[in-house]
This record gives sequence, C-alpha cells and structure tokens, in this order.
Amino acid sequence: MEAHTESSPASSAVEILRAWPDAALCHGFIGRTGGVSTGAFASMNLSYWVGDDERAVDANWERLRREAPDLKLVARLNQVHGDVIHAATRDTATLRPAGDGLVTAEPGVILGIYTADCVPALMVDSKRKIAGAFHGGWRGVIADIAGAGVRAMVKLGARASDIHAAMGPSIGLCCFEVDAELGDRFAREIAGARSHTRAGRPGKAFIDLRAVVRDQLERAGLAAANIASVGPCTRCASDRFFSRRAAGGMTTGLQMSYVGFDA
Ligand SMILES: [Zn+2]
Repeated sequence: MEAHTESSPASSAVEILRAWPDAALCHGFIGRTGGVSTGAFASMNLSYWVGDDERAVDANWERLRREAPDLKLVARLNQVHGDVIHAATRDTATLRPAGDGLVTAEPGVILGIYTADCVPALMVDSKRKIAGAFHGGWRGVIADIAGAGVRAMVKLGARASDIHAAMGPSIGLCCFEVDAELGDRFAREIAGARSHTRAGRPGKAFIDLRAVVRDQLERAGLAAANIASVGPCTRCASDRFFSRRAAGGMTTGLQMSYVGFDA
C-alpha cells in the first residue's frame, strides 16, 4: 500500500495511473485531483449522474481530454451493482445501458467505468484488439462479474489466456470492514475467498476485494502473471482518489477508469 500523501500544489495536476506500456492501448485510472468541482465532488469528478454541477463536470472533461487526447468516444453505463456486461460499438456507445461491465471489439471505442471504493478492472487482448472493463463492488463480485467480463470478451473473439487485466485503486483489506455475515457469505459463495477475509471487531470482518477478483480472473482462464493491481487503497489515499467510505458513506464524486484501442 502506498503512503498517504499530503495535499500539495502538485495535487492540482490530473493524476492518471497506467498499467501497461503498449502505445496503441488507451487506458488509465484517473484520480480525483486536477479538476474544478468543489465540496464532495472535489475536484476531478467525471460523472454527470451524482449531483455535481454540470458545468464543472464539463470543465473536468475538457481538462481530462487535454491530458488524454485519445479519449474521444467513451462508452459508459448506468451502474447498478449487478453482473450484466454490454458490448459497445460506435453506434451504441452513447446509450448508457444499465449494467456494470463493457466490452468492445471496435478500436476507437473507449470503455469508461466509475468507482469510489469498488474495484475498477480493465482488460485487454492486445493480439485481437478486444477490450473489457468492469466495476466490482461486493454485490458484483459475489455474482462473479469478473468471470462474466472475461466470457463476454471471449464471445467477441478474445482468448482468455491472452487477456491481461489490471485492477485500479479501490478499498483495501485495511479499510473494507463489513458485517461478519457478509464476510461469511463471501467465504461460502466464492471458492477460496475465506483466505481473503480477516476477523474484525466483534461482528465484523475485513475483505480483500482485489484478491477475490484476482482469483475469479484466474478461474476464468487468465494467467496469474497477466493480472496486475495498480494504485493504493482509496480510503487510505482519499486525497488522491474518491472514497465513499472516507466520505462517511455520503455521495461523493466518482473517478473514471478507461480502456480501449486507438482507432
Ligand atoms: Zn485502506
């Protein structure tokens, strides 16, 4: 886990973490700094659907596109904590259907996923230029959205053994404390998940969501060496990343993670 960084003048820059060096691959995990939104949305909120001032979100998108000019057509979802994956094309990219994962076989279509503690996961089969992205909150993880995401990419022609996945900043084992009942449910319903939970205070448990998703990606056919984890715990580093837990469970801005191939 990375150290907690104090806010400084450097934090006015847009932060984009990347997992892969491939230049044809447009991807990143965007942080919360460098935007113009204020209050709970400060500052790089990229979602129009959380109650932020639309003009501020417009300005944030402008700033982002200066940093990442290849972010032209971004397909997004109405995220509902399920396991439904949609295939996006140029024609459907702007529809914003209900679901929590996107895949595409069309270079130029960039997939965007919003989070503020949940696991944002990006996937690519660079040989066949097929991309996928999903949002893994605890409900989606129990429903195996990782497996659904891999299967949806394979349906478009990807090969699981060629897929590389990267999970971005999300709440860590250090901070994801849940009711013990939910910890037990993870252990019961997901093979191997017991080893990724820890006892917490009485009646509580901690879950390592990224470790559970990693197992699910491996079970779906990805090589362990092809799965990366990028960035810190969002709650520990809430000056750099939106964290719903750090905000006391209140509405916050959302960070966007994105992936696709240049057209
Ligand atoms: Zn933490």
